[in-house]
Amino acid sequence: MATVRIANLSKTYGTGKSAVEALHDVDLSIGDGEFFVVLGPSGAGKTTMLKSVAGLVEVEQGDVEIAGVSMDGVEPYHRNVAMAFESYALYPQKTVFDNLASPLRSGRTGKYTAEQQRQRIDAVTTTLGINHLLKRFPRELSNGQRQRVALGRVLVRPADVYLLDEPLSHLDAKLRAQMRAELKQLGEMSNTTSLYVTHDYQEALALGNRIAVLRAGRVVQVGTPEEIWRRP
Ligand code: ADP
Ligand code: ADP
Repeated sequence: MATVRIANLSKTYGTGKSAVEALHDVDLSIGDGEFFVVLGPSGAGKTTMLKSVAGLVEVEQGDVEIAGVSMDGVEPYHRNVAMAFESYALYPQKTVFDNLASPLRSGRTGKYTAEQQRQRIDAVTTTLGINHLLKRFPRELSNGQRQRVALGRVLVRPADVYLLDEPLSHLDAKLRAQMRAELKQLGEMSNTTSLYVTHDYQEALALGNRIAVLRAGRVVQVGTPEEIWRRP
C-alpha cells in the first residue's frame, strides 16, 4: 500500500482543432490504504486519470507520485500498480487456476513458488467466491464468473496501488450488488490503496472511503460518501 498524489495534472489528446482536454488541473491526494472512488459520467476523464497513474498516457503537465516518489519518467512496468480494464481478457486455453497463476509466474514482482501461488490464489478466490471453479476453462463459466476471475487476476498480484476501471460494469444488478459488498470487504481486509472508477452514483457511495466527482476533466467535489450524498 502507498499514498498516491496527483498534482495539477492536465492531459490533452491530439492537437489543434481536434484537441480534447481530458483532464484539467486535477489535484488529489489519496491516503495509504484508502479505497478512493472517482465518480463521473462517460467522457469525464476517469480512465485517463487511471492511465496517468499507471503510466499508460503521457502527461504533459503535472505529476503523479506513488509512495512519495515522482513517477515522471518511470515506465509502466516499473510502477508497482495493478490495473484492471473494463474489458477483461482471460486465456481461453488455460484453466481458471492457470489464468490466476500467470501473473505470479512472470512480471516485475518476480516469480512465486508453487506453494506461494496456491496460497495467494486461495485467498483471492475465497474472497471472490470462485474457489470451486479453479479447474474449469473460461468457456465453462458464466459472464459473472468470468469477470470475477478477471478481477482475481488483478488482485492476486501484490501491488502498492490497485487501479480498477468499472470492474463490475458487465454484471447484472444482483451480482453487481453482491460483488460490491465483497470488494468493500476485500478493500477493508487487504488494506491496499485502491483507485476505483465508476459512473454509478450508488456504487460510489457504497464503496468509497472518499469520492472525487469528475466532470469534463475537472474535479468538482471531493469528500466522504456522507458529504457527497448531502450535496448531490
Ligand atoms: P471516462 O473514462 O470518464 O469515460 P476518458 O478518460 O476515457 O473518460 O476520456 C476523456 C476524454 O478524452 C473524452 O472526451 C474522450 O473522448 C477523450 N479521449 C480519451 N482517450 C482518447 C484518445 N486516446 N484519443 C483522443 N481522445 C481521447
Ligand atoms: P503517446 O503519444 O506517448 O503514446 P498519448 O497520451 O498521446 O501518448 O497517447 C496515449 C494512447 O492514446 C496511445 O496508445 C495513443 O496511440 C492513443 N492516442 C493518442 N492520441 C490519440 C488520438 N487522437 N486518437 C486515438 N488514439 C490516440
